Amino acid sequence: MAKTKTAWFCNSCGAQAPKWIGKCPSCNQWNTFVEEVISLAGTEGQVYKKSAQSNKPIAVSDVVTETEIRTPTGNGEFDRVLGGGLVSGSLVLIGGEPGIGKSTLMLQIALSLNNRKVLYVSGEESTSI
Ligand SMILES: [Zn+2]
Repeated sequence: MAKTKTAWFCNSCGAQAPKWIGKCPSCNQWNTFVEEVISLAGTEGQVYKKSAQSNKPIAVSDVVTETEIRTPTGNGEFDRVLGGGLVSGSLVLIGGEPGIGKSTLMLQIALSLNNRKVLYVSGEESTSI
């Protein structure tokens, strides 16, 4: 049986310490450390047991393959790279050197999906054209 484990956390910034300290080394606030239980007695073994049950090995012949419905984008090469088109609910990360044409390609793809709603998310570009 595992013993109950606790740790001290700063309730201002979330910094962790093994014991109570008066001043948080991370945010420099005083008296912000509170003790919290991070592991209850006996739960570690139970968690491991549950995990082991849900991850039982299965035979390759028993693996169920599902065919996703793919939506072609109209760009043959992009569709080929995606395995046939976009999968609803999926996320595709586009990477590459600066200036290689990622934004241009994505805007062309968005334009070709003119019968669908497109959310264009960019963390680097301004909203002005
Ligand atoms: Zn802090």
